[in-house]
Amino acid sequence: MLFKTIMKEKFDFHTHSAASDGSLSPRNLVKKAKEEGLEIIAITDHDTIAGVREAVEAGKEFGVTVIAGVEISIDFEPGTMHLCGYFLDIENQQLNNALRYIQQARLDRNPQIIDKLNQAGIDITMGEVQEAAQGKQIGRPHMAKVMLAKNYVKDIKEAFTKYLAKEAPCYVDKRRLTLEKEVSIIKNANGIAVLAHPGEMPFETNEEYKKLIADIKETGVQGLESYSSHHTQEENVMFKQLADQAGLFSTGGSDFHGKTKPDVELGVFAESSDIEMNALMEKMKQSTKLKENG
Ligand code: AMP
Ligand code: ZN
Ligand code: FE
Ligand code: FE
Repeated sequence: MLFKTIMKEKFDFHTHSAASDGSLSPRNLVKKAKEEGLEIIAITDHDTIAGVREAVEAGKEFGVTVIAGVEISIDFEPGTMHLCGYFLDIENQQLNNALRYIQQARLDRNPQIIDKLNQAGIDITMGEVQEAAQGKQIGRPHMAKVMLAKNYVKDIKEAFTKYLAKEAPCYVDKRRLTLEKEVSIIKNANGIAVLAHPGEMPFETNEEYKKLIADIKETGVQGLESYSSHHTQEENVMFKQLADQAGLFSTGGSDFHGKTKPDVELGVFAESSDIEMNALMEKMKQSTKLKENG
């Protein structure tokens, strides 16, 4: 954890379940949120909404507000751009079609990565990776998990830096959709689009980020995940200011994955954040309402 003092919030807008590469089932994710005193969480699995229904049901069971969300990888060069969608209508046809397209891209990519790993001398099969993912959507962390179990690496991180990360030798890119397309899909599903962990993007200066934020606002992105466990507290403060200046709202999220990322805790993403949870919820709901009327 990057922060000197740890502030645990009562909300978390960025969490993963075993529907993608988190270690907890959607129900157990919500149960844990309740046990740790959180009142609101968004479930934001990579490229899938398969865990949403179970999480929402568990929310009713445990008394936690669960926001139907997703985290989608966007076609962006160079580097990484992730977009979160919130308050989604999970029955929406266009959304489901887009996610199917992205999932197919994953299915095409996985055996190519396995091939490269085999060529690098690592004995790993699709079957082992499928087992690690328990039949759910496969991501690179599942491959890392198998490599760790077979003692090829000392931890998940090493599997990425040595083999699986974007700059590493066994990386294979996957087809993605553009930001414009994804934003329109999220909006069509009555959702709100928020740029996830902007600090992960390959920009340095305030000016570069100002430009990025102006550009994404143009496409219809309404919020910034200003507070993130991926950021230093200085970055958190900078992104909050930039979001305020641009008229985007700020969310906060831990990017919790359970055991997949053992050093990330639910509700922990800032030394201190000035997000007022209920006001943020109101603002987000207002955005969906405004859109419905306009
Ligand atoms: P994939 O869905 O296959 O693209 O894998 C994405 C997942 O890999 C996300 O959960 C990331 O947090 C994780 N990941 C990406 N890069 C790294 C890294 N360098 N170290 C550890 N995990 C990573
Ligand atoms: Zn993940
Ligand atoms: Fe992400
Ligand atoms: Fe994430």
